[in-house]
Amino acid sequence: MRVMKFGGTSVGSAVQIRKVAGLIGNKSPKIVVLSAMSGTTNTLVEIAGTLKDGDRFRFGELVGQLEFKYVETVNDLFGTESCRRLAVDGMTDCFRTLWKMPQAGYTPENEKVILAQGELLSTLLMHLCLKEMNIESVVLPALEFMRLGGNGEPDGRFIRRNLCKYLRQHRKCSLFITQGYICRNAAGEIDNLQRGGSDYTASLIGAAVRAEEIQIWTDIDGLHNNDPRIVPNTVPVRLLSFDEASRLAYFGAKILHPATIQPCKDHGIAVLLKNTMDPEAPGTTISNRDDDTKSFHAVAAKDGITVIRIHSARMLMAYGFLRKVFEIFEQYRTPIDMITTSEVAVSLTVDNDSHIDEIVRDLSALGSIEIERGNSIVCVVGRMEHGDAGLAARVFECVRGVPIKMISYGASHRSLAILIDTEHKKRTLQCLNDGLF
Ligand code: ADP
Ligand code: ASP
Ligand code: MG
Repeated sequence: MRVMKFGGTSVGSAVQIRKVAGLIGNKSPKIVVLSAMSGTTNTLVEIAGTLKDGDRFRFGELVGQLEFKYVETVNDLFGTESCRRLAVDGMTDCFRTLWKMPQAGYTPENEKVILAQGELLSTLLMHLCLKEMNIESVVLPALEFMRLGGNGEPDGRFIRRNLCKYLRQHRKCSLFITQGYICRNAAGEIDNLQRGGSDYTASLIGAAVRAEEIQIWTDIDGLHNNDPRIVPNTVPVRLLSFDEASRLAYFGAKILHPATIQPCKDHGIAVLLKNTMDPEAPGTTISNRDDDTKSFHAVAAKDGITVIRIHSARMLMAYGFLRKVFEIFEQYRTPIDMITTSEVAVSLTVDNDSHIDEIVRDLSALGSIEIERGNSIVCVVGRMEHGDAGLAARVFECVRGVPIKMISYGASHRSLAILIDTEHKKRTLQCLNDGLF
């Protein structure tokens, strides 16, 4: 069994939906995971916002425009009246849910219901498009098998058991379609795997069915050696290890949701990143192997980083100080990205500053605290063996004109990260591109 995931742009119009139907319509067994059509989830987020703000007028405008867009897509997509009718009926169910929202009122739970409609719509359209092409497919309802446990993390056993139950019910079928991104939480309410989460759905499904391969189809030929939205002339990296890919995804390579790689790594399932716009292009293969011919493989950057500096003379020659610091972050469930220490100071970075006030208050008992917002982590990934001289020097030579606030190097042989003010990000990525590749 293969898992193939198509992102929003890949299914972003009637033409694209037909194109994807052509790519998946052969007989080899597969589970196809779909995102919402491009733009839909953003609009649904905006719709939920108008509900929260009590802006009934804007709510009506946005739902009306979205509905119009889907009516147009349905008209473009279907040639037969029977399939068009089925599409309109299914679509009406989704839009009825949206139109009824002002009566229900804004709650975080209702917001999740709103956000779930995009993937329900795209899978409906794909299923009916295949039907019109006389290709049999079964829609697997993600809300019945994709589930979070009490800790907010996907419940692998529940997913495997329930997904396999559906697959057994349709033994004769070789083409399954399901919704990315959406799931239920431990309380049984509709929830999601965070923005961009359809990639994660694909890897969770791949792990659950022990797929032979997971393919992530998007609008670019694989993972590039730098952020193509910022730097011109980036090129695809053909081979990446699981660890490199997770690190790049975590540090901002938007092509992959950061959690995608772990389930694949756990089960040794290769991930292939492919381009729907150019299906013949080789893309990127992510597996246990990386490219052993080069030292530097790729660069990524993550914004919205806050630095917390703790200055304390009590640190000098003391033990147990860092434990106290880490316990405070643990108490507020806030992960730390980078850390550097000297004799009397520790600097840490976080990307989630929702509990920053409480954290600073508690840390103040340990020393004086400084906070700086608006930073980016730039991460260089590759083979940086500690025995090789000059690799760190090459990186720093590239960024000699950029003020660097923190450095993380040596925790692994595979990456070097620097912290800079976000205003220098573009220049930093460009300089690294010119100097390393
Ligand atoms: P999808 O809707 O298919 O999930 P995304 O927009 O989430 O697609 O991800 C694909 C986009 O990621 C690309 O169009 C590209 O602009 C962006 N991107 C950022 N960093 C990278 C990178 N290192 N390599 C490739 N794409 C990247
Ligand atoms: N549709 C969701 C989003 O836009 C999930 C995804 O596309 O992966 O975030
Ligand atoms: Mg994505």
